Amino acid sequence: MQKITIVGGGLAGSEAALQLAGRGYEVDLIEMRPSVMTEAHKSPYLAELVCSNSLKSTRIENASGLLKKELNMLGCRLLEIAEKSKVPAGHALAVDRELFASNVSRVVQEHKLINLVEEEKRDILISGCCVIATGPLTSQALSKSIQDHFSKDHLFFYDAISISINIETVDTGVMFKASRYGKGEADYFNIPFTKEEYYRLVEFLISAPKTEKHNFESSSFFEACLPVEVAAQRGVETLRYGIMKPKGLIDPLTGVEPYAVIQLRQETRSGEMYGLVGFQSRLTRKAQRELLGVIPGLMNSEILRWASIHRNTYIDSPRLLDERQMSKMKDGLFFAGQITGVEGYVESIAHGLITSRNVIAYLKGEESIIFPKETILGAIQRYLINTEINFQPINANFGLLPRVKGNKRERKSRKAQIAIDSMTAFLRK
Ligand SMILES: Cc1cc2nc3c(=O)[nH]c(=O)nc-3n(C[C@H](O)[C@H](O)[C@H](O)COP(=O)(O)OP(=O)(O)OC[C@H]3O[C@@H](n4cnc5c(N)ncnc54)[C@H](O)[C@@H]3O)c2cc1C
Repeated sequence: MQKITIVGGGLAGSEAALQLAGRGYEVDLIEMRPSVMTEAHKSPYLAELVCSNSLKSTRIENASGLLKKELNMLGCRLLEIAEKSKVPAGHALAVDRELFASNVSRVVQEHKLINLVEEEKRDILISGCCVIATGPLTSQALSKSIQDHFSKDHLFFYDAISISINIETVDTGVMFKASRYGKGEADYFNIPFTKEEYYRLVEFLISAPKTEKHNFESSSFFEACLPVEVAAQRGVETLRYGIMKPKGLIDPLTGVEPYAVIQLRQETRSGEMYGLVGFQSRLTRKAQRELLGVIPGLMNSEILRWASIHRNTYIDSPRLLDERQMSKMKDGLFFAGQITGVEGYVESIAHGLITSRNVIAYLKGEESIIFPKETILGAIQRYLINTEINFQPINANFGLLPRVKGNKRERKSRKAQIAIDSMTAFLRK
């Protein structure tokens, strides 16, 4: 059987290695630590959790819990090891970080078909089948090589994620649909602000608590993707001349341009998830919740994705990779984990598993493996393949799944049941 090279022994790389080896493939797993460390990793172990020790909820009414359920149905190896390394955390799966990472390292090292190589891979000139899983802190030399392979406009070094909400939980009655100057389709929901409402918002943004930057995160990125609260701090009118510009947007209720406007843009095809345009932010989660309270119509809205800005190397997957997550420019060169634009520990593990299945399908000359659109796995796959504009890293969330009827709680449990049934039927086939 053909040998596969995996670069990066983090969450995605370790899962992919164990999946491939478990199906009889020989794997060279190249990991640069401990001889070369990243800015965030502290240990010599594979699959180190660089920050929180929580892999989030285990309840299927929570999107991360549902993702775990799907992964368990597929025989996910890292979740199995996480179960054996867990610490008490209520409905969450939290692990003893060191125990988890050392257990993953031991299982990988003991596997007869995995050859662990300690080396910094500085380019992607690898012959045969290869998976790049070097994560959000991919080393500089390798980043340069990836940039040369694809072109520099398609590799990003920072996330600038705006808050996304569930449109079904929003009071759209206070908004109007329009495009600027009436040009093109009226795709955006526009939230009009009076002068008083606008000033209240600016005041809130300036005084609200923010999260700290990691010391390896430079300040220079702020100019490229300015957090909304930093823009607000530059002058009380700054937002009104920037992301909240009302020019060309006539409120049909008043017949005039509002004092300022926030635009909501659709983010997924299922049509539930909408993002607040330009509201990338470092506000704490509690402050983001409060922020929605000072925006007309959003008081009771459900947050599907929190705003954040942090160091994160990732590629423009929808343009660069095919549906198997293989480079459109080089056969046999796959990408897995956070570098493809998934976000989060469990999502990275999931993507390692998804990619390993597609590597096998590719080597066998079989059709690519795309999970049902009703599952979180399938929905994440489709997001990475189909997002046409404003591609931003994605975490597991219910807004990615096809719409169902009911109140918030009913919708979640229905979506979860449909996902499990779809995965069961898929696996039976
Ligand atoms: C500072 C920080 C904090 C985060 N906190 C959380 C959190 O609390 N919760 C959460 O869900 N997600 C968090 N994330 C996001 C994400 O889930 C993790 O980064 C996750 O580990 C990504 O998995 P991965 O396998 O894609 O990459 P990683 O787990 O980072 O694995 C990549 C591996 O590749 C190696 N590598 C890099 N370059 C090379 C090279 N050239 N040659 C050989 N090896 C190389 C690295 O040493 C590393 O072991 C955080 C990310 C960062 C950067």
